[in-house]
Amino acid sequence: MSGKINKLGIMGGTFDPVHYGHLVTAEGARCEFGLDQVLFMPSGSPPHKDLREVTSAEHRYMMTVLATLTNPYFEVSRIDIDREGVSYTIDTLRILREQYGPDTELFFITGADVMFEIVNWKDSEKLLQIAHFVAATRPGFSLDDIPSQAREWASRHKDRFHVFRVPAMAISSTNIRKRVSMGHSIRYLVPEQVDYYIRRNKLYG
Ligand code: ATP
Ligand code: MG
Repeated sequence: MSGKINKLGIMGGTFDPVHYGHLVTAEGARCEFGLDQVLFMPSGSPPHKDLREVTSAEHRYMMTVLATLTNPYFEVSRIDIDREGVSYTIDTLRILREQYGPDTELFFITGADVMFEIVNWKDSEKLLQIAHFVAATRPGFSLDDIPSQAREWASRHKDRFHVFRVPAMAISSTNIRKRVSMGHSIRYLVPEQVDYYIRRNKLYG
């Protein structure tokens, strides 16, 4: 890390695999909110009750490193990967708050599908005391479909909760995994290095 970080973006995700939708969202947030750095935060391995088998954290971490390598404002963090058990966002944010100190403003970045789930998250009110929440529009998720409970919550916290627009990218990791398993091309949906890494390690086969 070089220079003082006044505003830090945090882009959480499973990144299984990371794709251009994630990258456009992170870059959009950086420009919109004047962030000095965006930290990509791949999730740790999920609890067994999860329906889907998630690719190993090391593969997801490696792909995220490859995808972010050429953007000097992007970094990848191992905080959630190296922690035992389920990582709650509140705990991750507290660790970052400790690491970066009280003068760094934190901006937690999500897509529109995730943003209104936040209301139901553990300690959602406390989350907003630690960080701003910035939510990017995402194709398939209309702002009109937001449940009223979430809408109220957002308007109550409008100083800490912001919606911003990114060029629409109808890309999801689910779709990419599907395409790979069917032998279809994922070129131009993910950075070239990620495409190569997936083939080389025979992921999503
Ligand atoms: P999956 O299909 O496996 O759920 P995903 O594409 O949703 O994968 P995640 O790792 O779940 O990717 O998402 C990480 C974050 O990136 C979430 O906040 C999600 O809303 C956001 N995001 C993912 N794809 C896009 C996209 N195309 N446009 C905007 N935001 C996105
Ligand atoms: Mg998702």
